[in-house]
Amino acid sequence: MKRIKIKELLATTQVGTQACVKGWVRTKRISKNIIFIALNDGSTLHNLQIVVEPSQLPEVTLQSIVPGSSLCVEGTVTASQGQQQRIELHGKQLTVLGDAANYPLQPKKHSLAFLRTIAHLRFRTNTFGAVFRIRHAISYAIHQFFHEQGFVYLHTPIITGIDAEGAGAMFHVTTLAPDHLPKQEDGSVDFLQDFFAQRTHLTVSGQLEAEAAALGLAEVYTFGPTFRAENSNTTRHLAEFCMVEPEMAFYDLKDNIALAETLLKYLIRFVMEQCPDDLAFLHQKTLAAQPSRNTETTLPLLERLERIIAQPFQCITYTEAIDILKASKANKKGKFVYPIQGWGDDLQAEHERYLVERFFKQPVVITDYPNAIKAFYMRQNEDEKTVAAMDILFPGIGEIVGGSQREERLDKLLTRMQQMKINTETLQWYLDTRRFGTVPHSGFGLGLERLVQFITGMENIRDVIPFPRTPGNASF
Ligand code: ATP
Ligand code: MN
Repeated sequence: MKRIKIKELLATTQVGTQACVKGWVRTKRISKNIIFIALNDGSTLHNLQIVVEPSQLPEVTLQSIVPGSSLCVEGTVTASQGQQQRIELHGKQLTVLGDAANYPLQPKKHSLAFLRTIAHLRFRTNTFGAVFRIRHAISYAIHQFFHEQGFVYLHTPIITGIDAEGAGAMFHVTTLAPDHLPKQEDGSVDFLQDFFAQRTHLTVSGQLEAEAAALGLAEVYTFGPTFRAENSNTTRHLAEFCMVEPEMAFYDLKDNIALAETLLKYLIRFVMEQCPDDLAFLHQKTLAAQPSRNTETTLPLLERLERIIAQPFQCITYTEAIDILKASKANKKGKFVYPIQGWGDDLQAEHERYLVERFFKQPVVITDYPNAIKAFYMRQNEDEKTVAAMDILFPGIGEIVGGSQREERLDKLLTRMQQMKINTETLQWYLDTRRFGTVPHSGFGLGLERLVQFITGMENIRDVIPFPRTPGNASF
């Protein structure tokens, strides 16, 4: 008999129908000589209740039905006597596909930290099932959104020769043996003998390549793995993560912000519509965590999401942000680890969170940062002090999007690169895009995992990616 997914069976199958399901045992309970099995196949948060009589089964089969073992069950769909579910499956034939003696995931509460040590098994829990179904829905909706808007999906290289984007420390890519490095006469490594005959790294961003494509295809986006070798051991940083990077010709900073805001709201709405059960489950978890203070980050999950889509994002300039922070009680009372001295200071996570969670109590877009703290490709403003940058900050997350209008004027771009000691030699191809038919254009980077974190309410970014890569950890 053909297998039916439990999600489909629970939603549509009529009482009296014969059905075949396959999945993993969550719990087993014996009552009045009847076995009740909660079976889950990953298609939905909900388990299917399987009812079997022990007398129907050989002793070895009975013993193998334990939490974690996998089963194939054929039987009759029956109206359930229990309050928990509409229907259940009365098994006529039951086969154990794989047993699970000493299964480490016994049905009881496990900490997220423990589950990280068995990341290969955590897909079988309610929480991670919900998280990864939602992560899928978000990824799917990203493609759907850009497709609807006429964008072209672009695969930019993961191995890159660009070493000066300034977005973060990079991982080397080489086939040279670490203990037999070929040397030049001056003692430095001879990368001409390396695989690509030059130094190469794992990409920190596909932006520069996406810009080239945008100046021809007009609207493109990349969506793929990105690598940062920073030693940031935080709940918001990974060494390997996914970034969504749209790049649009003929967009100025305002258009850029509007696109990012529309995208973020679209994705949140999509998940609310498509994954109501998984979201409700995660919502309940945030309720159970019982907040001590009622700040923006301790609101129940669904309220947090509804607030984001209900109102326009608050837009302020960097200069206004500094004024607010400088005058804040938190700053005056020395509550910031990095006190705000004045204009020119970089904004730390604590400042971002103050603005979003305490001051505005909604997402904040900060624009027009000092050029000294932003990348070389951002467009110089007329004041010659600031650039047309924008960061979008979310409650509980901090920066979720970073973007800018790009410097399209060749002379200004060259001056900036020289000031910042960026190697113009290896970026001649990039400068060509400003030599031949340059146009105003803009783009941004959205961290997929930070968005999944926000939408699922998971506190640690390591719990929204299947196998996290962080300093000191590349297990699995
Ligand atoms: P942060 O200041 O938070 O370290 P960033 O300014 O270095 O971030 P960008 O270079 O602007 O980040 O990257 C664009 C987006 O990619 C960020 O807004 C964020 O959503 C995501 N991102 C950046 N670094 C990481 C990381 N190490 N792990 C996960 N997501 C990240
Ligand atoms: Mn940034």
